[in-house]
Amino acid sequence: MVPFVYHPRYSRLELPPRHRYPIQKYALLKQWADEHGAKPEQWVQPTPLHWNEVTRVHCPDYITELVNNRIDRKQWRRVGFPWSEQLLLRTLTSAAGTRDTAMLAMQYGCAIHFSGGYHHAHYDWGSGFCLLNDLAIAAKSVIDACPQSKVLIFDTDVHQGDGTATLFADEPRVVTCSLHGEKNFPFTKSESDLDIELPKGTTDDDYLAVVDATLEQLIVSHQPDLILYDAGVDIYRQDELGHLSISLNGIFNRDYRVLSTARKHNISCAAVIGGGYQRNLARLIKAHAQLLRAAYHVWK
Ligand SMILES: [Zn+2]
Repeated sequence: MVPFVYHPRYSRLELPPRHRYPIQKYALLKQWADEHGAKPEQWVQPTPLHWNEVTRVHCPDYITELVNNRIDRKQWRRVGFPWSEQLLLRTLTSAAGTRDTAMLAMQYGCAIHFSGGYHHAHYDWGSGFCLLNDLAIAAKSVIDACPQSKVLIFDTDVHQGDGTATLFADEPRVVTCSLHGEKNFPFTKSESDLDIELPKGTTDDDYLAVVDATLEQLIVSHQPDLILYDAGVDIYRQDELGHLSISLNGIFNRDYRVLSTARKHNISCAAVIGGGYQRNLARLIKAHAQLLRAAYHVWK
């Protein structure tokens, strides 16, 4: 069984009209899963983190400013969400979800989080819809619980995982890899352990060849115990922020290859759905659903 981690709070956030962020996608993906055979016992609902669990990764002063809505306006504009109590609770719940997904993956071999991938959150600042770096919190929880273990963060969201890269720059037990659009946000990139920049308009064959070669190389070099996989679908050719030209079938193949490669090497894999930006929500859900289809094919 592949556990599915989800909380209805993921889609509960008041945003201004026409806001760029497709907040409804989480609830709609949950609905898609239920309509396509998810079993009641697969669902796991996370309990929000406490702030003192967050400060194991983030700067305590940043967290104090965040909780009290004292981050200055210029800095806050980089985040892109209006501040609210609802936003904080949602963020803590989602970060807990990624951590729980990592722990469940260690137990079951694979687990999927119906949120997560807030990879632009740095040690002491947020950016690009990201306040807390859930991938970093999850990886830190794993190495704290099992100090001998090694975690690979394999981030295929179209945007570079800049926050994750800086947070683990000096942590050899967490290997960071980002495959991202060369000319896309964040325009000032950080240095991951491995960065692969993809030109605008990259298509399926070139993309999948890079995914295969990169993942195999990382597994051979680092022998991770867990892969934290950011399966962002903003690589899709229909994505409004992506600039790559990957088809729906290309997304399925990427997800299938990552999950099946992890399974072949007996490495646990915790996947988060990551980014994806389309006003057409039905089409966006279909893109995110490829991860669920891939998990079904690998783990049936
Ligand atoms: Zn993205």
